[in-house]
Amino acid sequence: MKPNDAATAMPDLTPTSSNAPQQQQAQAGLDFIRQIIADDLASGKHSQIVSRFPPEPNGYLHLGHVKSICLNFGVALENWGLCNLRLDDTNPSAEKQEYVDNIKNDIHWLGFDWNGEIRYASSYFDQLYAWAIQLIEQGDAYVDLQTPEQIKLNRGSFTEAGTNSPNRDQSVAENLKLFEKMRTGGFDEGAAVLRAKVDMTSPNVHLRDPILYRVLKAHHHQTGDKWCIYPMYDYAHPLSDAIEGITHSLCTLEFEDHRPFYEWIIAKVDTKAKPRQIEFSRLNVDYTLTSKRKLKKLVDENVVQGWDDPRMPTVAGMRRRGFTPEGLRDFCQRTGVSKADGVVDIGLLEFCIRQSLENTAPRAMAVLNPLKVTLTNLPESLTLHHSRHPNVDMGERDIPLSSTIYIDKNDFAEVPPKGFKRLIPDGEVRLRHAYVIKCNEVVKDQNGEIIELKCTIDPDTLGKNPEGRKVKGVIHWVDSAQGVPAEVRVYERLFANANPEFGDDFLQNLNPDSVKIFQAVVEPSLAQANTGDRFQFEREGYFVADEKDFTTDKPVFNRILDLRDSYKPS
Ligand code: ATP
Ligand code: MG
Repeated sequence: MKPNDAATAMPDLTPTSSNAPQQQQAQAGLDFIRQIIADDLASGKHSQIVSRFPPEPNGYLHLGHVKSICLNFGVALENWGLCNLRLDDTNPSAEKQEYVDNIKNDIHWLGFDWNGEIRYASSYFDQLYAWAIQLIEQGDAYVDLQTPEQIKLNRGSFTEAGTNSPNRDQSVAENLKLFEKMRTGGFDEGAAVLRAKVDMTSPNVHLRDPILYRVLKAHHHQTGDKWCIYPMYDYAHPLSDAIEGITHSLCTLEFEDHRPFYEWIIAKVDTKAKPRQIEFSRLNVDYTLTSKRKLKKLVDENVVQGWDDPRMPTVAGMRRRGFTPEGLRDFCQRTGVSKADGVVDIGLLEFCIRQSLENTAPRAMAVLNPLKVTLTNLPESLTLHHSRHPNVDMGERDIPLSSTIYIDKNDFAEVPPKGFKRLIPDGEVRLRHAYVIKCNEVVKDQNGEIIELKCTIDPDTLGKNPEGRKVKGVIHWVDSAQGVPAEVRVYERLFANANPEFGDDFLQNLNPDSVKIFQAVVEPSLAQANTGDRFQFEREGYFVADEKDFTTDKPVFNRILDLRDSYKPS
């Protein structure tokens, strides 16, 4: 297993003291899953571990999946093991090739690569079918002709045992005949199912003769019209793990109750490998939806502009937003792996993204609300040169300065609030990387709106402090002659409620102001950016050249995050 070439340096996934408190520590800093793996390697139970990431291609990957990806690929990387990518495509009606393509793309972008070719549960349909026949022949499965309603009713409840189906004890020959009829299209959807014969009185409802196959007359994106019966997840998943020789099948806690059946089916069927299912708690993050079904609703109802809308917690959305794979991996590492349920502060995610940008994003200047400033005594236009980053050598950029520039409207106040350190009438402020200026005149239009400031520069203040006085404020600016108009999209959280699932209709929790569009002016070097380049616009935040809409003629930037951290790591 090797990191993908296109991605940047691989994450250091070894737990560190900084994430230790959030992990369920077994020994020496390993989370409980890594401890099990270490023990299995030490005892010789396995000489190499094989994990897998098994998404269903019924939507785009989201932040929750990133957690599972970092865990599954991470444990393999750390232990010289393998991690497969298997599309769990047993439900053709919801699945699409578009989703398959994006899943592959997203995993590569996150910096991981899978073992060999991509795998599909659907490529095992022949084997799964053969094992179903074996189960029938062993007396471990039967075809049930009850209606779906009867099946549900006879399943009992958490407090009441289930009732055996009238078909439960029919002969092997009868079951083989009926299953063949299912396979050849002789039953309508819902008219027959294949069920495991386990125990209708089990306290675990998942052991009450779970359904293995159902009739579904649907075209499949991989197998076409070959099948009109499709295996259920609880049947296909353990056996797909076994076929691939998965040693540790890591999944989220809601599958804990399914584990007895996972073990039952693995024991009943003659598989070489005996994978072990281990559950960990889902990643939940406040203000963030991690349900493909709900995210799909946002897309289908045009609440957002597609799966890759920069406000979406999908990998595609977060990439377009400008989040970094390094930051996402760091976040997953810091949130740890445990069986404890909880909700993670989104501030931690934002902190990790900012950390990853601090020393990688070159600085630049952009004015989001331009206000014209005339420098009445600037003798001639000039070009300043300044480093792209204060601490990391990223070379220099040219910053033109002429007698007309733009500053941000918010950096001037005629009647300044207390503590205002920026420009005021007759006051002074430093233009970042350039002169100290003084505001001599405020020009207004007939509505009383300020349209221009007339200022003078202090010619002795380029790269040095003014003589005999202190000028506290520093503001950013852009030259009007060579500055470039740009669209800047400022994103806020998509949900206003920390629990986006609150109430009956999660759409009511949306933040009505999750995007604001600015017609900005940016320094000319920014027009030369490539799509996906990330910057820190001084005093404004981190921004990315939009991967879809940015062009040199019409630059479009998305705000990744502002500069203020609400989160303080312990
Ligand atoms: P969703 O409810 O959004 O559809 P899912 O679990 O049904 O999610 P799958 O495509 O089946 O989606 O998930 C692939 C893998 O990702 C599974 O192993 C699943 O457990 C894991 N996964 C999904 N959501 C999370 C999450 N929030 N935290 C950790 N792992 C997750
Ligand atoms: Mg699922």
